Amino acid sequence: LLARGRPVLSEDGECLGAVVVLNDVTAMKMLDRLKSEFVAKVSHELRSPLATIREQLALVIQGVVDEATEQEQYLLSRAKDKTQSLIDLIGDLLDVSRIECGNVAQQQVPLQVEELLSSIVDFMQAKAKAKNQELGVTLPASPLPKMRVDPMALESVFGNLVANAINYTPEGGSVTVEVGGDEKAIQVTVADTGFGIEEKHLANIFDKFYRVKNDKTRFITGTGLGLSIVKGILDSMGASISVESEVGKGSRFTVLLPLEDPCNQNTTI
Ligand code: ADP
Repeated sequence: LLARGRPVLSEDGECLGAVVVLNDVTAMKMLDRLKSEFVAKVSHELRSPLATIREQLALVIQGVVDEATEQEQYLLSRAKDKTQSLIDLIGDLLDVSRIECGNVAQQQVPLQVEELLSSIVDFMQAKAKAKNQELGVTLPASPLPKMRVDPMALESVFGNLVANAINYTPEGGSVTVEVGGDEKAIQVTVADTGFGIEEKHLANIFDKFYRVKNDKTRFITGTGLGLSIVKGILDSMGASISVESEVGKGSRFTVLLPLEDPCNQNTTI
């Protein structure tokens, strides 16, 4: 049930009573769930044939490299890249439907967040190097309390933020991950010296499929789902994210992971 209420006041402000409207949203919720389950099912069915096509294209590209004309190689590589984009889109759609069905961040294990971030940064070094960027991580002097979290969910959050920072920063720029906190919360910032985001877009970038289109971002491919996944996962953990950005200077995303969650999800151990 969705309840909305409002007091009824007399002209001199005296409370005379209240009007309460109750809406039965069971059917709406069920429809939403069915929609999410449908997306998950279709995505699943699409993923494996696409993965097969990608592998077969990779084999053809390897096999014909010497004989194919430049034009043929170009076309095959493009087909392979587009197949990869579809696989990425499907992966994101699956994540979105998992979040909408409430099947996210369910596995809870004790985790040293600094270790997870160091390994994400290590994994992303190749991507940063390809753009001649500095990618670094600053860890606190003494270890932070361990957190009970779903490692895959947290990996998806910070993997997305670091990948975005690299994608939306030009060649030669830098990306810095900083981890800190106290006994109440762990704070992680992902800062870049990239294109920045105009203020008018900041409220929307966490919406599904929202992408900022301008001269700088036009050629950067993406699904517009990454930050909505990040926000969905963090919401489900009782965590928060905020962003500050300046066009031409860079962006800074700050994630606060509470160690003492009122829902008792992320307790210190
Ligand atoms: P995608 O990157 O697939 O477009 P996201 O949901 O991850 O989707 O991001 C939404 C939009 O927010 C991006 O299209 C981009 O315009 C903007 N954005 C996200 N991260 C950054 C960043 N670090 N710097 C500048 N713009 C960003």
